[in-house]
Amino acid sequence: MTISDAVREISERGYSPPRTARDPVNPAMVNNWLEALGDTNPRYAAEGLAPPAMTQVWTMRGLHPRPEPGDPLAAVTAVLDEAGFTSVVATNSTQTYHRYLRHGEQVAVRSRLVEVTGPKRTALGDGWFVTTESTWYVGDEAVATMLFRVLKFCPGTADSPAAPDVLRPVASLDTEFFWSGTARRELRVQRCVGCGRLRHPPGPACPECGSARLGHVLAGGTGHVFSYVVHHHPPVPGHRCPFVIVLVDLPEGVRMLGELVGAEPCDVHIGAPVRVDFRRVDDELTLPVWRLDPGSQPLDPGSQPLDPGSQPLDPGSQPLDPGNRPLDPGNRPLDPGNRP
Ligand SMILES: [Zn+2]
Repeated sequence: MTISDAVREISERGYSPPRTARDPVNPAMVNNWLEALGDTNPRYAAEGLAPPAMTQVWTMRGLHPRPEPGDPLAAVTAVLDEAGFTSVVATNSTQTYHRYLRHGEQVAVRSRLVEVTGPKRTALGDGWFVTTESTWYVGDEAVATMLFRVLKFCPGTADSPAAPDVLRPVASLDTEFFWSGTARRELRVQRCVGCGRLRHPPGPACPECGSARLGHVLAGGTGHVFSYVVHHHPPVPGHRCPFVIVLVDLPEGVRMLGELVGAEPCDVHIGAPVRVDFRRVDDELTLPVWRLDPGSQPLDPGSQPLDPGSQPLDPGSQPLDPGNRPLDPGNRPLDPGNRP
């Protein structure tokens, strides 16, 4: 029997037999629900009513539900499981309330299969959308209706590419020197050849004097936490949440963003001394990361940044193309828009 044949057969059964709620509508359950949702409307208690949105609660089947031969969703699920569409995700639920339920009323529910469409290509994989309709009754009176749709899909059939293990920064002519440096375990800071000013993130021209003659210096690799965030959500490829992103004050006089590794979020604080380390991803990419450096002094508020002009210039560095837009190498790991 094809999926379509099985679906037609289940549809023709119409509504399932009524399934009666385990308990009548009762104030104990209503109070728990109101408390969980923070609903303080006094009318429910005063008038002996139940919130319409908890209609489905009354006919939930408990922790150990028995199989129900008449349940159309269970029947379609069995057909699609058999065909390999074994995973499920709920996609839509639309409820319509015809009236309030009152304490003491005994509810029953009946369900029917509305439609099954597919197979569809989805981001999760090939699958079928299954829509059922459930109606709740008190006696013969319908009190609420719900259209419920799930996607039953075949795992492993999504054609989206595998998630990258790390978000890769885009190296431009402006930032290539920075990433070439990290590959050699060097932390490079852009320096204007015209006026000696250091800057980070790197850019195509000096905002101080306008010169496009840009070189770089090697930073010492130390700094202090100027600020930080603990990233909990959304997930970021290559990171396990929560993780810490620090904005580091370098003694050279610039600030850099990067991940703090090897420490728990509770270990970091503003002013904490940190030291750069390098995480080699592959031949093309090495990311600078930061580690707490308990051997160093915490930040002394009276200390002055070093004079950028005193830093040695790398004679091998070339002026950069001013036509390229600046990119912040330190900012890349937090872009949630890039997640798969
Ligand atoms: Zn300059």
